[in-house]
Amino acid sequence: MELNEFEKQFGADLKLSGGQKPLGLYLHIPFCKDRCTYCSFVRTHEEESREPFINMLIKEIDQWGQILERPILNTIYWGGGTPSVLSYEEASQIYRTIQTSFTIASNAEQTIEANPGTLSLEWLKSIRQLGFNRISWGIQTLQDDLLKSLGRIHSSKEALQALDWSQEAEFKHVSGDLILGLPNQSPESVYADALRIIDCGIDHISIYLLDLDKACGLKTEVDAGRLILPSEDEVASLYEILQDKLPNLGFTSYEISNYAKEGAESQHNLKYWRRYPYLGLGPSAASHVGHLRWTSDVSIPTWTQGSGRLTIQSLDPIDEWMEIPLLGLRLDEGIDWNDLSIQSTLLKVEPLYHAWTNKMKEFETNGLVVFEGPRLRLTTKGRLLSNQIFQMFV
Ligand code: SF4
Repeated sequence: MELNEFEKQFGADLKLSGGQKPLGLYLHIPFCKDRCTYCSFVRTHEEESREPFINMLIKEIDQWGQILERPILNTIYWGGGTPSVLSYEEASQIYRTIQTSFTIASNAEQTIEANPGTLSLEWLKSIRQLGFNRISWGIQTLQDDLLKSLGRIHSSKEALQALDWSQEAEFKHVSGDLILGLPNQSPESVYADALRIIDCGIDHISIYLLDLDKACGLKTEVDAGRLILPSEDEVASLYEILQDKLPNLGFTSYEISNYAKEGAESQHNLKYWRRYPYLGLGPSAASHVGHLRWTSDVSIPTWTQGSGRLTIQSLDPIDEWMEIPLLGLRLDEGIDWNDLSIQSTLLKVEPLYHAWTNKMKEFETNGLVVFEGPRLRLTTKGRLLSNQIFQMFV
């Protein structure tokens, strides 16, 4: 369905829902300097596609501001791709459109993703002045040989310098991403990387397990036997060392893949797991407002030409109820299992709730989940096998 048709059909509902709670706004900026060997994201390094893309993004921001009647944004997140390849003028043009099309809360968390090797200290300072108060860096690893085999454009030295610059530019919150499951990683090397980026003053770490499900350069190397990845057990030990050690350094594991100092949790990402509303703009961006979820599932050129078709899912009350454990169990706080029971009675889905409860008790016996009073949480082992648990709820 195209945007005009979507607005005609759902505009009134969205206006109502959009006005109820502050929104999160995600922008997908799909430009990168090069292609990393493990990447399967929607991205490009074609410079000539930047201007038409930005023009379309500005048009969409304006259009959505009107559809939702200039709602309040309490989180903004520019991801990608690499938003830090934008010039200050390009970023400022996009940011000013958000300011005029939406109402940015005075205390809004405003994050920009960045990659070392794409920017200068002056750029960081000016982007901070624009309004961004949080920066999330793609560090991935501090082993230079691994950075090279991942096709990253930066060295470990540049990564550490980028983190220092974030302090100099006075970002309130700084996050660093690390990847687990790379060739030759050991628990000691992963922990050493975490310690070095923590020493640079970051207050948030995101950990991603290497995912080679989709075609990419690294997968070709692995499939051909030219690169050997660690076994599942070895990857588990990489994750476990961080689970063990980071809390002693003041970093709580508030979500399966995320650690933060108190008060530094990503408010934008929490919206995804708590089912709060957010609007995503750009190719491949997902949105959830009211009872609707939709994704703009098209290539960059198609999206730029304004032919961004939306794949829409209208959630009924049972769908919404089923999403609570699917998303909420990712969080360390877990979910209120009693509350789920009360809702199951109202929705007349008690048999499904009882089947889930039996399965959860089985998982508890196997050490994957734990009931603590009314709440259900994943254990460290459960986090590693979370896909098995989440299958229950789809
Ligand atoms: S910087 Fe990120 S989005 Fe860009 S190619 Fe590398 S992994 Fe992909």
